Amino acid sequence: MGIVVQKFGGSSVSNTENLYKVCKHITEEYDKGNNVVVVVSAQGKTTDRLINEESEITNEPSLREHDVLVSVGEQISAAKLVMCLNKLNYKAISFMGWQLPIYTNQNYGDAKIITINTKRISEAFEENKIVVVAGFQGITEDGDITTLGRGGSDTTAVALAAFLKAEKAYIFTDVDGVYSDDPNKNKNAIKYKQLSYNEMLDMANNGAKVLHNKSVEFAKHYQVPIVVKSTFKNGEGTIIK
Ligand code: ADP
Ligand code: ASP
Ligand code: MG
Repeated sequence: MGIVVQKFGGSSVSNTENLYKVCKHITEEYDKGNNVVVVVSAQGKTTDRLINEESEITNEPSLREHDVLVSVGEQISAAKLVMCLNKLNYKAISFMGWQLPIYTNQNYGDAKIITINTKRISEAFEENKIVVVAGFQGITEDGDITTLGRGGSDTTAVALAAFLKAEKAYIFTDVDGVYSDDPNKNKNAIKYKQLSYNEMLDMANNGAKVLHNKSVEFAKHYQVPIVVKSTFKNGEGTIIK
């Protein structure tokens, strides 16, 4: 028995049917006796839609209000996922970044996680609840909402794994691992079984959006292994360690 951190990206939580597929991965770990923390992204293209809607109003939004707006997608996913888990008779509770809190610096739109207060997560574990955390968002010391940069839910998951001292961070996505190139664009791309933090950092910095570059930096700094695997297909995935 341990702490398992699983993150599910936008396509993994895109609709109700997929939310129930996500529940299977979560309950499988919970049923083994693990404490499970789940990090979710916004459903499908929700964040893109919010940014488009913002641009109908202004191209120069207040950075603070930009983050208030674009952080909301994750709140929807987190609440819906808890409702699905409840429907399956599992106890679960959602937390937004500000509720834990996940403290960041003030760099709106690309904020850096400084620390996470894990007290409410531990309390939820004591009540045998599955914990669902909204990815991509945090809060400043002054109480203002921040976001971590596009794709930032990966970083939420790795940071939670680090602060909870979980063995690994599992990143579930729409591909079955990290490839030598984007497998959706290059049919000859080969899948890696294992990568070092530096190898993965190079790829993430060169645009391999399968992992947010800051999540890899965080993982390297705190020595948290990351496993990238598919929500929809069985298989080992890729381990970054
Ligand atoms: P999520 O919504 O789960 O966070 P992303 O869209 O952010 O997923 O990242 C997964 C996508 O990353 C894949 O669908 C794939 O097209 C793309 N991708 C780009 N480069 C790579 C790579 N080297 N290996 C795997 N996937 C890659
Ligand atoms: N929803 C955010 C985005 O689209 C964060 C994430 O998906 O990780 O960038
Ligand atoms: Mg992503």
